[in-house]
Amino acid sequence: MKQGKLIIFSAPSGAGKTTIVKHLLQKYPALSFSISATTRESRGDEQHEKDYYFISKEAFLHKVAHQEFVEFEEVYNGTFYGTLRSEIERIWDAGQHVIFDIDVEGGLRLKRKYEEDALAIFVQPPSLEVLKERLSGRGTDSPEKLAERFVKAEKELNYADKFDVILKNYDLETACAEAEKLVGDFLNK
Ligand code: 5GP
Repeated sequence: MKQGKLIIFSAPSGAGKTTIVKHLLQKYPALSFSISATTRESRGDEQHEKDYYFISKEAFLHKVAHQEFVEFEEVYNGTFYGTLRSEIERIWDAGQHVIFDIDVEGGLRLKRKYEEDALAIFVQPPSLEVLKERLSGRGTDSPEKLAERFVKAEKELNYADKFDVILKNYDLETACAEAEKLVGDFLNK
């Protein structure tokens, strides 16, 4: 297997990382999205095997027991997310680099594992208030789930300094342009 590079985008939910990652996937054909496994229900128009591998908790824990994950996390109470080793291998085998949209702890775990082959970017929202507005505006989560996301987001904002780069997302267009430059430079290194 030929080993490619890893581009990790982490941030609290609602900081805009998914939009930035989608932008980069269009810009750089050499990048391929790491499809995570999760035990949560699909939301809106999300598709199985495109946005996530939506699997049961039983199936997830079976994979944990068989060491199939490079990292996994109980991101929210009772809801698991993880990166499958087979997913990274699938992308590298195709001669591509992997791009991740992953929570802060998972992102740091991958960075520790892959070191110089990985670029870990923290997407910083303008403020916690803006983040809360964005999360509420989605209208896809129950009040309980939203409250859980707020608590986690507040905690995650403190991890920014542990990343290679902090990318401010105050204005989406500017953030996408900066992300393009960062990723372009790293891929050409
Ligand atoms: P959402 O439910 O909004 O799609 O994702 C919730 C959080 O889980 C987001 O911060 C997302 O980036 C993160 N996440 C998605 N996939 C993974 C994964 O494979 N591992 C970890 N640790 N977090 C993930």
